[in-house]
Amino acid sequence: MAKELCKLKKSLRGEIGMYVRLIDQPTHVCLKCGRAANDKKLLCKPQSIASAMQKS
Ligand SMILES: [Zn+2]
Repeated sequence: MAKELCKLKKSLRGEIGMYVRLIDQPTHVCLKCGRAANDKKLLCKPQSIASAMQKS
């Protein structure tokens, strides 16, 4: 599969089963797209959710 989930929009419909396994326990959020994922490598501008929470 590709790299960042952020760039997967076109194939998402067909790969949704695999996709949800990558986002069911999110640890990071994308600062650019607002998407969340289990691994920062899946996002184009990853930010740790734990550290993001401390900022609000
Ligand atoms: Zn992104």
